[in-house]
Amino acid sequence: GVIVAEVLRRAMREPFHVGHIELHITISIGLVAEAQAQDRDPETVLGDADIAMYCAKDNGRDRIAQFSPEMHDGVRHRLVIENALRDALLHEEFQLALQPIVSLHDGSVIAHEGLIRWNRPDHGVVMPDDFIPIAEASGLINDIGAWVLREGARHVRQIGVAGALVSVNVSARQLRDPEMARLALEIVTTEGVSPTALMLEITETELVEPTVAVDENLVALRAAGFPFAIDDFGLGYSNLAALRRLDMEVIKVDRTFVAGLGRKSEDEALVATIIAMAHALGVRVTAEGVESAEQVIALRRLGCDSAQGHYFGRPALRGPLTGNSAANT
Ligand code: C2E
Ligand code: CA
Ligand code: CA
Repeated sequence: GVIVAEVLRRAMREPFHVGHIELHITISIGLVAEAQAQDRDPETVLGDADIAMYCAKDNGRDRIAQFSPEMHDGVRHRLVIENALRDALLHEEFQLALQPIVSLHDGSVIAHEGLIRWNRPDHGVVMPDDFIPIAEASGLINDIGAWVLREGARHVRQIGVAGALVSVNVSARQLRDPEMARLALEIVTTEGVSPTALMLEITETELVEPTVAVDENLVALRAAGFPFAIDDFGLGYSNLAALRRLDMEVIKVDRTFVAGLGRKSEDEALVATIIAMAHALGVRVTAEGVESAEQVIALRRLGCDSAQGHYFGRPALRGPLTGNSAANT
């Protein structure tokens, strides 16, 4: 079974040609071992295969997963969170914590990144890593992402400092929604802020194999004036061609490379290279996860433009925003 599945998976990875367009398709396969299928009715076996397929998708697609009974627990957990997230959208249980991004030239705050928090009733604050992947897998990320854009736009209006940006995270799934760019523009328009003040953070991996919808969204968002930042830079494999095409404002160096600055020469060499490359393309660099004065000194020496991290300030919630949110939704 696994061998057949592997042959299928590989066969589907070959590009398909439709007219002038080259399509790249990957498949996720769920398997049930024969021993586990015996004496069970076909519906149950298909249901288990379905669960295994979702696990394959959750683990990054383009892979094979064999069903195991523990997968039931994972699926149950996912369904519970999914339902709770639907309620969270209805009952306004989300908040954006803001973390300052500081200029390394003069120490001024040049932007804030909005990081989502979920005040889940009876559970306390849930961090994004515990629910964003589920929101992405279920498609709820589109509605959550729209909320984030709107809330980001409101913060732009409230912070109100000339030139200070608010930066929000945009997930891959959102960019694949053909309506995304139109929606984002509608949001800044109704909130009365300029798109140029709302930076969109996109991770590098999403740009490696962009779909037509992603490309169209990026072009439309860019034309509308939204600035882009490449998030977690260095984690994906950097496709320079894709980076150039994106026309981004900022590259955010992932904190795993910032961690060793001042102590590990390899990290310094790597960050120096990223900065040189970014500057050659006319792009500014923000270092993420800066926690010590030592790192700040190294970053200044390397010519890094700005920095973000606990050393400068943790993500923090602000008081209630002015303006009636119910009136705008
Ligand atoms: P990210 O975009 O790389 O965000 C930075 C993360 O690093 C945040 O974690 C932040 O609290 C943390 N951080 C900031 N400074 C430091 C530091 O000095 N040291 C260390 N160790 N960590 C630091 P958080 O808020 O838990 O967010 C985790 C990830 O969740 C984000 O990573 C982002 O990928 C995702 N995320 C957060 N908010 C949103 C959102 O509104 N939409 C989407 N799609 N994803 C989001
Ligand atoms: Ca980010
Ligand atoms: Ca990041």
